[in-house]
Amino acid sequence: MVSQSIHYVSTRDLRGFEDTVDSLTAIRRGIAPDGGLYVPTSLPRFDRDFLASLLPLGYAERAERILAPFLPEIAQSSDTGSAGELHSMLLDAYGPQWDTTAVAPVRPFEGLAFLELWHGPTCAFKDLALQLLPHLLKAAARQARSRAEIVVLVATSGDTGKAALAGFADVPGTRIIVFYPKDGVSQIQERQMTTQTGSNVHVIGVRGNFDDAQAGVKAIFTDEGLRQELEQAGKEFSSANSINWGRLVPQIAYYFSAYADLVATGRVRLGEPINVVVPSGNFGNILAAHYARRMGLPVARLICASNLNHVLTDFIRTGIYDRRREFHRTSSPSMDILISSNVERLLYELVDGDPAVVRRLLGSLVEEGYYELPDAARSRLAEEFWGAFATEAETGAALAWAFRELGYVVDPHTAVAVHVYRQYVAETGDRTYALIAATASPFKFTRTVVEALFGPESLPAPDGQDSRPVRPGVRPDILLEGRLDADDFTLLDYLASRLDQPLPAGLAGLKHRPVLHRTVCGPGRSEMTAVVRQLLGLAGPPGRTA
Ligand SMILES: *Cc1c(COP(=O)(O)O)cnc(C)c1O
Repeated sequence: MVSQSIHYVSTRDLRGFEDTVDSLTAIRRGIAPDGGLYVPTSLPRFDRDFLASLLPLGYAERAERILAPFLPEIAQSSDTGSAGELHSMLLDAYGPQWDTTAVAPVRPFEGLAFLELWHGPTCAFKDLALQLLPHLLKAAARQARSRAEIVVLVATSGDTGKAALAGFADVPGTRIIVFYPKDGVSQIQERQMTTQTGSNVHVIGVRGNFDDAQAGVKAIFTDEGLRQELEQAGKEFSSANSINWGRLVPQIAYYFSAYADLVATGRVRLGEPINVVVPSGNFGNILAAHYARRMGLPVARLICASNLNHVLTDFIRTGIYDRRREFHRTSSPSMDILISSNVERLLYELVDGDPAVVRRLLGSLVEEGYYELPDAARSRLAEEFWGAFATEAETGAALAWAFRELGYVVDPHTAVAVHVYRQYVAETGDRTYALIAATASPFKFTRTVVEALFGPESLPAPDGQDSRPVRPGVRPDILLEGRLDADDFTLLDYLASRLDQPLPAGLAGLKHRPVLHRTVCGPGRSEMTAVVRQLLGLAGPPGRTA
């Protein structure tokens, strides 16, 4: 039984601890009313015996042990003292929709292991959180005695959108609206979203990049007038983005689970520290690892891997967060982010929980495009994290390296982490056993994977007109009679055949599923708000046609 429950405070709350909320309220609100993010005022501490107790357990049971202190309201049934609702939620979230009972298995090699976070229904790590989040949101609504329809708004760089759609589709009492950058996601990611079925789902393309989509969603969330209108219509907004505490907390569990697996398989001794490498975009996944470390998981270095949009690398190395730079579209699109929202939670910690400083720095980010950490915070950041980035060529080379040296196929996001890890070892000589978060199935980013593994010659030209000769060893029958004009879907079958692996269920047959969502809107608050109003049947401001 948990004696003292954990409370949450906004990173920007000038009233400080006067305004704390419990977990379910933080999850229900998604973002604090002042625009800040909820952070826990304390964390549970787990010792070595606790780690040892995880070894024989399955994933859902491990997750229950780790999440229970965060969710006392649902962890234990108050009247019987027996396993509470959380137990059945976890069994449901981590059930047969995963293609392995291990849910988040570890693939160990000499000196390093991959934590495979892509065995869920949408083949990317966000399923770990988003299969659970709808359960948490519904419990939160019930606790608040709210009958309002929960309207989940999502801005996605690709993977969140599909994972959220899969989690919320046809969940009674909920509706979900996903905004994605129209030209900023892969063909497969887009098709995964636009073919989503369900009577409560909406998918909208935004003419802009992820930051545009995210800024629009944030503006909608903090629009007080809209919130009131919504309330009158019997609805309320919630967020499934990684700023929601309900997204972060399930992610803490898999780092503990992975450690238990490494101990169980004899790769590390109980208590021995490991390094953790995370390909990062919005900084949610690595932040979960950071919380796990604060909770007692033996982690030495947290290594933050970025692509060409390496704001985070620079931040860790210089203490300056600077968004004033060119935005690159890369082969790891889920990391194409210049404003990593979850950094705000770390920032709050780095400045010793002083919301006035958080506000000042974030204000400077909005106004000047950058901020600079105070000295003490800068050195703490550099002590706890190490950061580097991979160029596009380095990403491809790392993908090929893993295939050649380990016989293991990674997706481009994970390849970024592989490159950064190898750079870390080269620069520091530190060979502490490393756990690399493998965040997506290689099948989800087939074009890059085929190119890296089997050479650019096996790829079609962008206009589809190319007829370069097929490289020796590439089976021409798969490449459309020797012409190199395959689309992403054909490449999917090609890769499955080359690797002699079945396609993940979520991707098989994607090409032939009907596209159900075609709405596109401009970036910016007003256009996106208009779309939301129309979808929810709210009257627009005077002069606007719905
Ligand atoms: C979302 C995503 C990332 C980035 O994770 P953050 O928590 O946003 O840092 C990395 N890889 C893949 C495949 C993703 O979907």
